[in-house]
Amino acid sequence: DATVASPAIKPINKSVVHRICSGQVILDLSSAVKELVENSLDAGSTSIEISLKEYGEESFKVIDNGCGISPKNFKVLALKHHTSKIADFPDLQSLTTFGFRGEALSSLCALGNLTVETRTKNEPVATHLTFDRSGLMACERKTARQVGTTVMIEKLFSSLPVRSKEFSRNIRREYGKLISLLNAYALIAKGVRLVCTNTAGKNIKSVVLKTQGSNSIKDNIITVFGMNTFTCLEPLSICVSDSCIVEGFISKPGYGSGRNLGDRQFFFVNGRPVDMPKLSKLVNEIYKSANSRQFPIAIMNFIVPTRAYDVNVTPDKRKIFFSDEDSLMHSLREAIEIIYSPSDCSYSTNGFE
Ligand code: ADP
Ligand code: MG
Repeated sequence: DATVASPAIKPINKSVVHRICSGQVILDLSSAVKELVENSLDAGSTSIEISLKEYGEESFKVIDNGCGISPKNFKVLALKHHTSKIADFPDLQSLTTFGFRGEALSSLCALGNLTVETRTKNEPVATHLTFDRSGLMACERKTARQVGTTVMIEKLFSSLPVRSKEFSRNIRREYGKLISLLNAYALIAKGVRLVCTNTAGKNIKSVVLKTQGSNSIKDNIITVFGMNTFTCLEPLSICVSDSCIVEGFISKPGYGSGRNLGDRQFFFVNGRPVDMPKLSKLVNEIYKSANSRQFPIAIMNFIVPTRAYDVNVTPDKRKIFFSDEDSLMHSLREAIEIIYSPSDCSYSTNGFE
C-alpha cells in the first residue's frame, strides 16, 4: 500500500538483543544444564554433580573437579562470545571441546541469576562470583572450595515472562527430558563420575542418577539401564567409510524395548550427544523387519575426523551437518540390514531367556 509511510529502521537496545538471543541458546531446563555439564567436561573433570532444587525450577547447580577458572578470566567469564576454546574460524575444523561460541554463561545471565565458585590449582582459596543480567561481574569474594568449579543458576527464565510460566507449568516434563539427556552423558563419558540429585518440597535430597566413572561404555550401560537391558544388546562396530566408524550397542532382534519410539536411542558424534532423527527412523524401520512389536535400543557413536562435519548448525549444537551424509546413511543402512537379516544365524534363540 503506497499510502503507508515507510517506518524508520532503528537498532534494538543492546540488552534487549541479548535477552532475545539468549532465549534461543537456552531453550529449556535440559539445554541449560547441558551447557554446564559440557563446560565441566571441557574442563577435564572426573567428577560432576548436578544438584536440582524443585526439579530445577528453583535452582540448579553443576559442581565439578575440573581445572577451575583463573582469576584473570573472572571479568570476562560471562561476556558474550568470550571463550577459551577457539580463537579463529579454522579452529572449528579441529574442535575437540563441546563449547566454542562463548554463549552459554552469558545467555544464562540474561535468563536467570548466575553464581560461580571456582578455584584453580594455583589458588590457595576459591572465589565466589555473581554476575548481572548483561554478564558483567557484580561481586567477588573469597570462599572455601576444592579445586574445580560450581556454577549455579537460580530462577531460570525469570526474565522471559511467557517461558517462565510454561517452565513452571511443564516442570515435570522438563525434568524428565533432563534426566534422559543426562543418561546420554552417563552412557558415553568414560572415567567421569556423574551424579544427579533433586531436592523437592520438604524431602531430603534424592539421588536420581549415579555412575561410577568407569572406563567402558558397557559398564556405563549396565549402570544406567541395568544388567537385564545390557544382555539384550549386541555390540556394534560398523566401518561406514575409510574415515568413519560407528561403534556402540543395539537391541537383539527379539529383545527390543517395549517403550515409545526412540526413547532409549542415543546418538553421538565423537562422544558429543546429538539429535539424529533420520538415523533413528532408519534403525526403527530396519528393526521392524525383525521385530514388529518393539523398538530397538540404540547407542551409536560416530568416530569421524573433526573436519568431516559441522556442529555450528543450531544454537543448541544438537544438530550435525556431515559432509557426505547420503553415502553415510546408505552404508549404515546396508550394515544394519545385515545385522537383522533372517539369514544371519547368530540370532537363533540363544541363552538370554
Ligand atoms: P564456551 O564453552 O563456548 O567457551 P561458555 O559461556 O560456556 O562458553 O563458557 C565460557 C568460558 O568459561 C569457557 O570458555 C571456559 O573457559 C570457562 N568455563 C565455563 N565453565 C567452566 C568450568 N566448569 N570449568 C572451567 N572453566 C569453565
Ligand atoms: Mg560452554
